Amino acid sequence: KLAIVTIDGPAGVGKTTISRMVAAHLGYTCLDTGAMYRSFAWMLTRTGHDGEDLKKDPSLLAMLGNVEMVLLPPLPGEENGRVRLGGQVLGPELRTEAISFLASEIASLPELRRVLTLMQQRLGAKGRVVIEGRDTGTVVFPQAAWKFFLDATPEERTTRRLRQLRARGDMATSEAALLESIVARDLADRNRSIAPLVAAADAYTIDTTNLDIRAVVGEMLAHIGS
Ligand code: C5P
Repeated sequence: KLAIVTIDGPAGVGKTTISRMVAAHLGYTCLDTGAMYRSFAWMLTRTGHDGEDLKKDPSLLAMLGNVEMVLLPPLPGEENGRVRLGGQVLGPELRTEAISFLASEIASLPELRRVLTLMQQRLGAKGRVVIEGRDTGTVVFPQAAWKFFLDATPEERTTRRLRQLRARGDMATSEAALLESIVARDLADRNRSIAPLVAAADAYTIDTTNLDIRAVVGEMLAHIGS
C-alpha cells in the first residue's frame, strides 16, 4: 500500500490543522484538496464567471485546467497554505464565504472533479503525503495505507470556526450565519451524486466533538503505529 494518509470529513472539523500536525510528525508533505477546488472557484469569479457558466460552457474548464497551480505551505502564524496560480499567490482570498460556496457548487460537476482528481493523484503519486478533503479516501487514493474520517456535530464545528475567525479579528460573522452556512455546505457535499462526502468503508472514524486537537492527532498516530 502507498505511504499515504487520507483525511476526509465535513467543513470546520479541523482537517487542515490536524493534517499539518500528522504530516509534521511523520515527515510527510500535505495536500489540501479543498484549496484546489477553491482555486478553481476563485479563477472563475476572477474571469467574471459563475457556476452556471461553467455548466453551460465546458471550454471554461480547459481555461481553469491550463493555469499552473502550486500548493505552498502556510506563512508563519497562519493555518492555511497558499496557492500560486500562474503568477499570483493567493491566501485569504480563497477563504471567503463566497468562494466556499462556489467551490462547493462547482465540486458537483463530474468533468471538473475529473481534472482535479487527476492533478491530486499526480501530486501524491510518490507517497509520503497526508491528503485531506471530502473524497480522498474514497476516490482519489482508495489504495492509501491509512484512511481517516473525522466528524463532529455542526454546533461544535461552528464553535471551532468562530474561534478561528475571532482570533483573526473577524468580529462581524455571526454564529447563526456560520452554522447555517456549514450545514448548507455539508448537505450539498453529502448529497451530490458524484464523490459525495462519506467515510470510506475501511476508514478509521473519529468523532472529535469532545476531543481536543492533540487527542485527535494522538489517536491517529497510534492507529498509524508511529
Ligand atoms: O475543505 P474546504 O472547505 O476547503 O473545501 C471547499 C469545498 O470544496 C468543499 O465544500 C467541497 O464541496 C469541495 N471539495 C470536494 N472534494 C474535496 C475537497 C473539497 O468536493 N476533496
